[in-house]
Amino acid sequence: MDQEQENVVPVRDSSPPTFADDAGRGPVSRRLVLKYGLGSLACMAGGGAAIRYWTHRLPQAVAAAEVFQNGAPKGKLWKLWKKRGWDKEARHYVRLGRNIQCELCPNECLLEPEDRGRCRNRVYKEDKLWTMAYGDPCALHVDPIEKKPLFHFIPGTDVFSIATAGCGFRCLNCQNWDISQRKPEETKDPRGEPIRLESGQLYAISRSDVDRLSMFPDDVVATAEFFSCPSIAYTYSEPNAWYEYMFDTAKAAAAKDIRSVWVTCGYIRQKPLLELCKYLDAANVDLKSFETDIYRKLNSGKLKPILDTLKTLKREGVWFEVTNLIVPTYTDKPEMIRRMCDWLLANLGPDYPLHFSRFHPAHKLTQLPPTPVDKLIEARAIARDAGLHYVYIGNCRDVDEAETTFCPGCGEPVIRRNIFDVETINLDGGKCQNCSTPIAGVWS
Ligand code: SF4
Repeated sequence: MDQEQENVVPVRDSSPPTFADDAGRGPVSRRLVLKYGLGSLACMAGGGAAIRYWTHRLPQAVAAAEVFQNGAPKGKLWKLWKKRGWDKEARHYVRLGRNIQCELCPNECLLEPEDRGRCRNRVYKEDKLWTMAYGDPCALHVDPIEKKPLFHFIPGTDVFSIATAGCGFRCLNCQNWDISQRKPEETKDPRGEPIRLESGQLYAISRSDVDRLSMFPDDVVATAEFFSCPSIAYTYSEPNAWYEYMFDTAKAAAAKDIRSVWVTCGYIRQKPLLELCKYLDAANVDLKSFETDIYRKLNSGKLKPILDTLKTLKREGVWFEVTNLIVPTYTDKPEMIRRMCDWLLANLGPDYPLHFSRFHPAHKLTQLPPTPVDKLIEARAIARDAGLHYVYIGNCRDVDEAETTFCPGCGEPVIRRNIFDVETINLDGGKCQNCSTPIAGVWS
């Protein structure tokens, strides 16, 4: 997935803050950073709620994920949250007697009244399932599209990127755990005067203002337009966890000819995915390993739903690229990488790019070293040998031509990049200028 998401470059370090200081209202550069702020209401939200593991009452033969028992917000917090408009009824759930099952992701959380889902922002209250992550971003940024990473999608353009708190995974190596493993009320503060942006005001907002900032779908689109971004990315944390906010924003963006980019772990059920595909233009999907057992240990997920997501994106005509983070001792076995590449070739063909990404110690895996460079080079050789046309190495400055696109026809470089900067593009109408071989991607 995303080299800035849970794998590699932390949001807060993706580029230096450019406003004057936390309290000040200094000028903000075009590539602005608005860092999340920690709200102080966690204690009001049942933050220490017990976790319940459901193992029964399921129509499926699998256990649902653990939920936060009695973890929904209460009293004043919930009232303030609703007053801000940071709540919205969830799109995909069913009632099972007095309980509710969320049908958004394969975790399939089963909730009793006043419970909170595994992703931390879906709560069962007032006889409905609500998302608490709507119009309340905790991270905003204008990024190069190459940073998602998307190398074959309108290269050299900027993408307006947003995130709220939440994720249905528990990756041991998460680089953005400070937003992905938080509840919305731990990153936002609904007290005090609300702040709602109109386009252009981002230049004058302080970092602490982000705590109280509301940014509804039309505001996100207007801001992307203001910064001349041809696309909006749902990224940094796991956007499936804030599906309704992403969906409504993507729909509003499509109406204005602004494209939508989904940077994701791909852990989503088919029905919401098909609904989302109508408004998606590109995705980067994190294929974290190619073994169910490693998915369970490293990410607390399952492999098959991610493979299904990739096949669906192809079928629905959404451009996508795949990222595979190589974590020493977990996902660095050449035999598994070979099986993954063979599956990608057999099921998706040779033309969807594969980005091998370097692991850096973080979160609960600080004891591991960064991925050795020779492991990354070996993985690239395996993928190329398997027949994949476009293979990259990310988050590593020590490999020659790590980010270069080579023509699969004549072998000449067609796009040269320096990390996230595009240096040269030798394409003519999406074809190699040297031999006219079409290069897969979305080029304009
Ligand atoms: S989206 Fe959240 S609440 Fe719904 S099943 Fe997934 S983790 Fe559970």
